[in-house]
Amino acid sequence: MRALTIDAHGALDQVRFRADAAPPTAPPAGTVRVRLRAAALNHLDLWVVQGIPGVEVAPGWILGGDGVGEVAEVGAGVTAVAVGDRVVINPGISCRACEFCSRGEHSLCIRYRLLGEHLPGTFAEEVVVPETNVRRIPDAVDDVTAAGFTLATLTAWRMCVTRAQVRAGDEVLIWGIGGGVALAALQICKARGARVWVTSSDPTKLARAEALGADVGLDHSAGDVGRMVRERTGKRGVDVVVDSVGERTWAQSLGALARGGRLVTCGGTSGHALGMDVRKLFWNQWSILGSTMGNDAEFEAIVAELAAGRLRPPVDSVHALEDGRAAFERLRSGRQFGKVVLRIADG
Ligand SMILES: [Zn+2]
Repeated sequence: MRALTIDAHGALDQVRFRADAAPPTAPPAGTVRVRLRAAALNHLDLWVVQGIPGVEVAPGWILGGDGVGEVAEVGAGVTAVAVGDRVVINPGISCRACEFCSRGEHSLCIRYRLLGEHLPGTFAEEVVVPETNVRRIPDAVDDVTAAGFTLATLTAWRMCVTRAQVRAGDEVLIWGIGGGVALAALQICKARGARVWVTSSDPTKLARAEALGADVGLDHSAGDVGRMVRERTGKRGVDVVVDSVGERTWAQSLGALARGGRLVTCGGTSGHALGMDVRKLFWNQWSILGSTMGNDAEFEAIVAELAAGRLRPPVDSVHALEDGRAAFERLRSGRQFGKVVLRIADG
């Protein structure tokens, strides 16, 4: 089958389209085979190409986590979906048996695995996933919109709704608007009645974010964002900071945080080593919150928002699967605003 693969870790020239990838075997009990129509890139896919310590890939490794397609075959005992259903895929696969799965916290699973990283991915004509990892979507949601919906929206939903508990009247600062998680966080926080600050070094992105509802745009190349926020809030700061940049923004995020504030992070695209002064942490009574992907209840909640037309990820560009390397280069450039999508089947 057609697929986007790597034979080894390295630079983006490792990303290779091939027409002879091995198709998945018949779906085991409790799983479904999905014939993919479109898929989308996430920053995670760049990490996988570059190499993640402890994760080995076999040559011909199929990349990708997000995707939309039709159920082509169901394994024994599958009841949630049927052949022909159009579904989005949740790339986080949990064991359903450990302590954390048992209490419904699937993204805390001790055997948590991700499509494209630990299991064959979605940048291919077909993929096999557990039935718990797909949800039907209405015809009104087109393939390109649905393709890049799940990972970024699920991540942002858990960060903003479950972990930081953003509520009406909160002031929220979101770093790096243009990325999938940041854009989903903007839409989610606005829908909850928060006042949202966004940052970018690109004035065009700030203008586009304001058109999506952002209240304040800050040029993070113009100075210290923490200081900018304090100057514009009478030294108070913001209630919530959504940070996925890590090393480069951490000190500024803390500098922007009000007393009692919550800083929520889902990763560090600029580096992983963070530092802080414990006196500031306890005196200001900050909460530092980590967040990864989401559980079944959160997956259910975001698909309901998609179906209702309340959450729709902006799409940056659409590339043919054959031109997948160009899609990776677009994402790595950081110039994108919204999801970078791969079209796999026509229609
Ligand atoms: Zn588990």
